[in-house]
Amino acid sequence: MDRQQEFVLRTIEERDVRFVRMWFTDVVGTLKSVALAPAEVEAAFEEGLGFDGSSIEGLSRVYESDMLLQPDPSTFQILPWRGQEEPTSRMFCDILTPDGEPSAADTRGVLKRTLEKAANMGFTCYTSPEIEFYLLKSKELGANGIPEPVDSESYFDHTPGGIVQDFRRRAVTMLEEVGISVEFSHHEAGPGQNEIDLRHADALQTADNIMTFRTVIKEVALAQGIYGTFMPKPFSDQPGSGMHTHFSLFEGDTNAFFEAGAEFQLSRTARHFIAGVLKHAPEFTLVTNQFVNSYKRLWGGDEAPSYVSWGHNNRSALVRVPLYKPNKMQSARIEYRGIDSATNPYLSYAVVLGAGLKGIENEYELSPAVTEDLQAMSSSERRAMGYHSLPSSLWDAINKTEDSEFMAEILGEQVFEQLLRNKRKDWSAYRAEVTPYELKNNLGIL
Ligand code: GLU
Ligand code: MG
Ligand code: MG
Repeated sequence: MDRQQEFVLRTIEERDVRFVRMWFTDVVGTLKSVALAPAEVEAAFEEGLGFDGSSIEGLSRVYESDMLLQPDPSTFQILPWRGQEEPTSRMFCDILTPDGEPSAADTRGVLKRTLEKAANMGFTCYTSPEIEFYLLKSKELGANGIPEPVDSESYFDHTPGGIVQDFRRRAVTMLEEVGISVEFSHHEAGPGQNEIDLRHADALQTADNIMTFRTVIKEVALAQGIYGTFMPKPFSDQPGSGMHTHFSLFEGDTNAFFEAGAEFQLSRTARHFIAGVLKHAPEFTLVTNQFVNSYKRLWGGDEAPSYVSWGHNNRSALVRVPLYKPNKMQSARIEYRGIDSATNPYLSYAVVLGAGLKGIENEYELSPAVTEDLQAMSSSERRAMGYHSLPSSLWDAINKTEDSEFMAEILGEQVFEQLLRNKRKDWSAYRAEVTPYELKNNLGIL
């Protein structure tokens, strides 16, 4: 029993915790939870908790369904929304095979492996996400067949007494209560659309925080009688919900992305990192944008990126180098704008980081920064300047991932196969469906 495990057991006793939830994530990023009686926690630390993985999406093949959950004591947290009467807590878990080895099907494990690779190269990876989501009146659609947002406000609007004002205050308070530091929160451009930006943390902690964040948002919304959604593009004519993420690599206390006096103060390491991310972005978009609906965001304009490019403060670019403060070493970072709010954060961070590390390892050269608005250029202008597109649909993304050695390597054969299987199924189901668009436009033709 190590000190962290002892601390957890002591806290459970002192705070009279009644339930300890074991949290883990399936391949598409759905949070899974099993509640443990306090008396069972010690055994779970020592031997893991057995469960049947075959009924969890993408976790294991039927013939090897026995798996173990190994709680990570550093993630122990009392959950404030369960109230004080029957204190409930949670720990994130790693998934192990019956003989105690890390399971190749665990997406948290995929990120851990990639972080180990970074550590072997001397780097710690810090991330901070800008999470966008919509608040709706309810999960039910309105009379016109589309969701009903809770307000008709827009970017940075401040309406005294508004429902979302109250929502953000409660959400931020609750996030702080579970140890998640919030940097900014504001109304986003769409009606009912909000954004909350988390303070940077190491990439594994950030991914855990995002899983917690989604639960907090859903709980706080529920308590207010409204509904929170992370769907990438709930409205055809409003902006989608992105999860732009800032990445930096540190070597000890030194920001490896910073070089005083260089263009945008970007070091060679940062330039190689960006080059790696751009090279592999079309192959990993299936992970960062995993639903049919994700491609409606990517190709729907409204500041979502569609083309593979980078720029300084250019909002049409896929990778943006944010405005820098002169000689501010600590804040040098890059922003990857492709990810949407419905991603599995473990996998998304693994693929972006993995691609960046590939760029560093192989010293990929970075093309010049884009200075014009890519959305405003014609397709032949873009082609002439060598800008490639992100995949145009889930089907296109599946094809690009299928052929990618990089993706098979980063995800590992098992997650790679499970992901493709899941996404092919999704695409087939979508393709079989006759949509309102077709009925509107094709019923009366000829
Ligand atoms: N909502 C936009 C997106 O889908 C991003 C807007 C912004 O720059 O914050 O990526
Ligand atoms: Mg935003
Ligand atoms: Mg941003």
